[in-house]
Amino acid sequence: MSEQQEQVISPRVADDVDNYVGGQWATPSGGGSRPVMDPATNEELATVEFSTVETVNEAVQTANNAFKEWRQTPVTERVQYLFDLKTELEKRDEEIATALSREHGKTVDEALGEVHRGIENVDVACGMPNMLREGSGNVEDVAPDMDEYAVRQPLGVFTAITPFNFPAMIPLWFLPYAVATGNTFVLKPSEKVPLSSQLIFEAVDEVDFPDGVVNLVNGSVDTVNALLEHPDIEGVSFVGSSPVARHVYETAAQNGKRVQAQGGAKNYAVVTENAAVEESVPNITGSVYGNAGQRCLANDVVIGVGDIYDDLREQLIEAAENLTVGAGVNSDTEVGPLITDYSRERVLSLIESALVEGAELVLDGRDFEHPDDELNGHFLGPTLLEGVRSDMEVAQEEIFGPVLCLASADDLDEAIDMVNSTKYGNASSIYTESGSEARQYKYGVDAGNIGINVGVCAPMGFFHFGGRKASFFGDLHAQGEDAVNFYTEKTIQIERWYS
Ligand code: NAD
Repeated sequence: MSEQQEQVISPRVADDVDNYVGGQWATPSGGGSRPVMDPATNEELATVEFSTVETVNEAVQTANNAFKEWRQTPVTERVQYLFDLKTELEKRDEEIATALSREHGKTVDEALGEVHRGIENVDVACGMPNMLREGSGNVEDVAPDMDEYAVRQPLGVFTAITPFNFPAMIPLWFLPYAVATGNTFVLKPSEKVPLSSQLIFEAVDEVDFPDGVVNLVNGSVDTVNALLEHPDIEGVSFVGSSPVARHVYETAAQNGKRVQAQGGAKNYAVVTENAAVEESVPNITGSVYGNAGQRCLANDVVIGVGDIYDDLREQLIEAAENLTVGAGVNSDTEVGPLITDYSRERVLSLIESALVEGAELVLDGRDFEHPDDELNGHFLGPTLLEGVRSDMEVAQEEIFGPVLCLASADDLDEAIDMVNSTKYGNASSIYTESGSEARQYKYGVDAGNIGINVGVCAPMGFFHFGGRKASFFGDLHAQGEDAVNFYTEKTIQIERWYS
């Protein structure tokens, strides 16, 4: 085993995977369990025990009790905890990134970038005194001696249920905004990668939020359903696959909660004859193969328009075949493993379906084996399929693996029709130096996040994270102003004074 792989995991994550409720760490039991695996080596890193319904009830009760005082804590004071959280997270950024890389498989650089995108949301939420002020209105003299105000108020306990592919960043899309607005919070992280949240909550613990304001429960399906049905949960934020997002949206709504549920994706990139191909190719391959393709913003179908196709094809193949596959903790790795063997098998079956439907394999990563015997995890080498049409399964379903599907179109209209042929609407990118093509694209594609010469169009924390069609269920998105609206109710106050 190489030196990097031997990096010691911190005591917090090498030990039991604990819940954090009411300011106390405790290991749940009785709800089942799952091993936490290093996907590069198949080594067991820890075991995560799942919380039972009773444990969830206790966490929500604790958060609900804390709400009464927390909501009355001035917002200027609430954000001081977030300033401290930012400092504590920054102190631990490399430690979190290393643990994240071990449990997820992404490179340490990718993990570090992710941690910093999470901290960016803490940063933005530190501006909550100003954010709360915006969008509120008041009108004096609506009638003789009467004034009317709209005042933002927190609602109570919110939960966030998060996926495996960004275990540090996605919890931080929600936690800072929920608590800065005066709500209390319960996180249920992905059971596949629960270690990153242990370290984030070590930072939470260090900050010393009042007990019960920020809580963590580990678990799986039953834990999620207990949260969705709990009468004292006011709202649910979810990020994950579309079928589960729909289930969460419907169940939470049936139980009278506000809900924002971000689902899966199928993103296309279009490269026109006016593109700067040489500059675009590293950006495109970063989008497709970065994070081993396990990214909801990955543009896994790339359409070459008109005569650009041959040059684009050649450069993409060259870039893809030079990528280094390995464990995320090794510094030369560019493509890590997939999260589980099930994921790998799923990607292999999508490649197989593409071949049956007439696509061709230009670069075949299916039989990739790492020369280091200890790296016997769920690897796939960079794969490139050519001749992909929009009616193929591989062009309609999210791949979530290091597979680039190359397609062609005669003109931009045809390319836009292909982009819009899927049920998803998360993201899409165009590569062009032509303003009019870029404008046609921006107005033509049904995607919530659009990149112009940008392959991973992840919005900064002060913008909302877009998503349409089967990629999003709800009204108000994560981050930015939408987060403030999601976590607050604008109460109308009408006043008359007789003396
Ligand atoms: P997933 O849907 O399997 O799991 C997400 C969460 O839901 C986990 O916490 C899990 O415990 C819980 N869960 C799983 N099955 C459940 C069920 N039947 N009932 C109740 N809860 C359940 O997703 P994943 O595999 O962890 O993450 C990958 C997916 O997330 C991809 O589809 C990806 O596109 C999507 N994603 C979307 C965004 C976005 O912003 N739209 C961002 C990141 C990931």
